[in-house]
Amino acid sequence: MPIRRLAETTINRIAAGEVIERPAAAVKELVENALDAGAKRIEVILAGGGVERIEIIDDGCGIPEAELPLAIERHATSKLQDDMLVQISTLGFRGEALPSIGAAARLTLISRPADQDSAWRIDVAGGVVTAARPVPGVKGTRAIAEDLFYATPARRKFLRSPRAEAEAAERTVWRLALAAPHVAFRLVSDERVVFDLPAQEEAARIAALFGREAANTMLPLMAEREDVRLSGLIGPASLNRATSQLQSFVVNGRPVQDSMLRLSLRLAYRDVIPAGRFPVAALRLELPDDALDVNVHPAKSELRFADQNGIRSLVIGAIGRALSVPVSLASAPVAALPTRRFYPLPAMPKSTARGFAEAELALAALPVARTVFQEQDEPEPETDHPLGAPLAQILDTYVLAQAPDGSLVIIDQHAAHERLTEERLRAQFMEGRIATQPLLVPVVVEFPPMETARLLAEAEILARLGLEIEAFGPGAVLVRALPAALKEPDAASLLRDLAEEFAESGAPLALEAKLDAALARLACHRSIRAGRRLQREEMDALLREMEATPRAATCSHGRPTFLKLTRADLEKMFGRRA
Ligand code: ADP
Ligand code: MG
Repeated sequence: MPIRRLAETTINRIAAGEVIERPAAAVKELVENALDAGAKRIEVILAGGGVERIEIIDDGCGIPEAELPLAIERHATSKLQDDMLVQISTLGFRGEALPSIGAAARLTLISRPADQDSAWRIDVAGGVVTAARPVPGVKGTRAIAEDLFYATPARRKFLRSPRAEAEAAERTVWRLALAAPHVAFRLVSDERVVFDLPAQEEAARIAALFGREAANTMLPLMAEREDVRLSGLIGPASLNRATSQLQSFVVNGRPVQDSMLRLSLRLAYRDVIPAGRFPVAALRLELPDDALDVNVHPAKSELRFADQNGIRSLVIGAIGRALSVPVSLASAPVAALPTRRFYPLPAMPKSTARGFAEAELALAALPVARTVFQEQDEPEPETDHPLGAPLAQILDTYVLAQAPDGSLVIIDQHAAHERLTEERLRAQFMEGRIATQPLLVPVVVEFPPMETARLLAEAEILARLGLEIEAFGPGAVLVRALPAALKEPDAASLLRDLAEEFAESGAPLALEAKLDAALARLACHRSIRAGRRLQREEMDALLREMEATPRAATCSHGRPTFLKLTRADLEKMFGRRA
């Protein structure tokens, strides 16, 4: 066949496949246009997951009658002042969205700038344009996309269920609404109002879109370095989720799903929340436009930072600081909180679930604790020790203490110990003096071949942590030595966990991140079990060490290590006050 130029409609259909891969992408482009137009209020109405119909109404600057045909022409934009692509401050700039939508669907634009007597309407269906004509309409723009992909059936086949598409589209609007809190947003999907928010401050917007539970517990974050500014709210370790959906990143006003930012967030939380769980965070980065390349992908949701490493360490450092507030009673969850919802059970091993049942028993048995109070000599409140003096141990699992302010503190000795072990291992490691214990009889641990290779590839890192392994045939590893800090380690389950951890981290992960991950894994394999009776000195030592250890308010799995009941809580429970 001879070479020939493609027709404009064909080019647009090809581009449509890239820019508008699913309804959510069309929603994103149309809402971004409304934001770029300076809208103060945006309404998004979806039907059938956006495949049937997407309607976006804004009160922005509008498109002058004469420019309507240009708006739907390829590579036509009002947003690039010159052709340098260096300082891009609008969300759109490629001039591709409207022609792509018009090529794949039936697109209608009805628009009226403030200084125009009436609105004008233009239609494009499958790339065919109908001449613009005047219609009644208020200031601003209405963009309606119907029958998405009717003109590109190949694309239509790849769509998922209307519910899945609706969810993706709704999530897209959720992200944009987080990026632009000063714009009022209303989202309706299949006649259900998903949210209807006034223009508001960022914290209020985050609270509205993350839910009340998150809003009550999230911690503010702020960090600056040279001309980069990081701000936002992050969840405490205890507020973790099974997916990364409650994470939002906004860079220079643009919602992004950047893998470097996501990985940084994960690393920052990795030793305070369980593997496989995700932190909750709403982060906003502001940096000079020329320190950022947004023109990496047609959907513009991926970025390239000029200084990747600088941004990564800013994020990890700021989160680390926000999370490592030393133990204080203020950071303790109040025992009466609905803890089940905060620390979901499915992710925990059975033994922990049992521990939980016991914790509830312990709370239910509060009158017993009161008896303990009366039986003890009145203990002297120790003002330098926020966790106070130990009073007793119950169920061989929980230590009861009285804080200086009279609060009853209940410590989960196993959870607390797990955290202390991790921090101790970390300190030993930092000083390059992890003690290792050679095994009298080396242990053979069997694995699927893939995992053997993965573990052996990290043998050097493991050796630095005191864990010596060697190849032992295709499906096994020989363990010669283990870290001495692990008292009665189960080599097989420890190595299996480590292999999984390395698999999850992926190859490009930095050495220090791998070490971090491995340390956290080691710590969960070593801790005094619940069910051991403690001497008073041991209890006292445990409390004092907790006070001196960073991040001691949660265990390595992100569960609380202690709960408190204040005098007011107790009085309420006994009906002494309302
Ligand atoms: P881009 O946003 O990359 O410029 P689009 O194809 O999305 O490309 O839009 C083309 C042009 O149409 C924009 O540059 C803008 O001038 C105009 N436009 C699109 N949507 C709106 C809107 N909601 N309000 C005002 N102008 C709009
Ligand atoms: Mg656009």
